[in-house]
Amino acid sequence: MDNHPVIIAGAGPVGCTLAEILSLNDIPVLLVEKEAAPNKEWRASTFHAGTMELLEADTTLVDDMLEHGFKAHHVHYRDRHRGLYASFDFRNIADETNYPFRLQCSQATYVKIAFEKLKKRSNVTVQFESEVSHYEETEGGLNVTLNTKDGEQTRFTPFLLGADGGRSKVRKLNDVTFDGYTHEERWLLVGTTADFHDYIPDLAYVNYISDPDEFLFILRVPEAWRFLYPVKPEVSDEEALDPASIQKTMERALNTTDTFPIVENTIYKIHQRVADKFYRGRSVLVGDAAHLNSPMGGLGLNSGIHDAVDLSRRLVRIYREGADIEEELAAYSQARSTVAKKYVKAISEKNTKLMKEQDEAERKRLQDDLTETANDPVKEKEWLINSSLIASVKDQGIGRPPETSERK
Ligand SMILES: Cc1cc2nc3c(=O)[nH]c(=O)nc-3n(C[C@H](O)[C@H](O)[C@H](O)COP(=O)(O)OP(=O)(O)OC[C@H]3O[C@@H](n4cnc5c(N)ncnc54)[C@H](O)[C@@H]3O)c2cc1C
Repeated sequence: MDNHPVIIAGAGPVGCTLAEILSLNDIPVLLVEKEAAPNKEWRASTFHAGTMELLEADTTLVDDMLEHGFKAHHVHYRDRHRGLYASFDFRNIADETNYPFRLQCSQATYVKIAFEKLKKRSNVTVQFESEVSHYEETEGGLNVTLNTKDGEQTRFTPFLLGADGGRSKVRKLNDVTFDGYTHEERWLLVGTTADFHDYIPDLAYVNYISDPDEFLFILRVPEAWRFLYPVKPEVSDEEALDPASIQKTMERALNTTDTFPIVENTIYKIHQRVADKFYRGRSVLVGDAAHLNSPMGGLGLNSGIHDAVDLSRRLVRIYREGADIEEELAAYSQARSTVAKKYVKAISEKNTKLMKEQDEAERKRLQDDLTETANDPVKEKEWLINSSLIASVKDQGIGRPPETSERK
């Protein structure tokens, strides 16, 4: 197996994490990316404690991330009319983790940091403008077809890792279902260099703001303050992206007539879906290729990184200890799909409901419940451990050998 690289489809954050860990463990990789360069969209902005712990254990990325990101100690839940109703302080789990905060650092920065490391490794090859288009199973691996700018290529690999995002080609080739639903409204993400503390001085760096008509998610990354809000189905992309319309939304939210310099504006469709099986033979799904969720909770990329660490530990066992391939991949699929449904889907759906609940009495009940949780030290701690993915790591393990996994 050492003579042929593992092929990773997609040089997004999850593909880069896989390449980082496998190459550190002397497993050669070919990282194949369909675009001409790594994606520069900021997208994800939060790294949770559970993720930082894994990255510290298995990668060389953490020091650079800490240098380029900043620590958000609080998460606020607000209502547009009622104001702040729940405040959580990550420092209250300092006895559980070395990272009692959300590290605010964009996905693009994470990819850049990883690429700097990968460029220097002799067992890593990165091939841009190359798209995985097909595979055939063969003795001891797969023949993978790549569409490149120089034409079609076929490469043998012991394993194909599909880290090729929400529209994953590898998932389609694996022929698995991707059940779930798509939210009716799209979500518009806007970034501005204006300082929101000038308008709401006690704003945390991460704020979930409920409203039946126009909920808001306001958060800070090193480059900007960001604003995520819904776009109704009847509003076209063009209308939503009109600078005057964005300006009006910000004026309403921050109660001002000031003009905001916009440095980012992208519309996203939001899905909640999980693949029914995360592998087929030696072709394995990782990250968004395997599961998609609402960004409320900042869990998509984080859980994708957890997938990457889990799978890498299994591949290292397969390569170095001759562990059983089918058992390891079945255990991976079982553990990671449980996390995608029981933790990631549950947390992100709960947050989304809190933000957009239409029924006034139900909205008040959900908010009162959260106020009680935030004000009770035991419940607050449980909430923090769960939302920072420490709980899922403790309960389901990461790369836990098959004989000790729930499967047996
Ligand atoms: C607005 C927004 C905010 C978010 N905020 C957070 C957050 O704070 N925290 C969090 O954890 N998550 C967040 N997420 C989710 C996060 O962005 C995704 O979970 C993350 O991008 C998944 O990474 P990935 O590497 O699996 O897929 P991607 O980032 O989609 O990368 C896939 C890569 O594969 C390439 N590719 C596609 N097809 C092929 C092919 N056939 N062959 C080769 N290459 C291919 C693509 O070009 C791309 O580079 C957010 C998402 C959105 C939309």
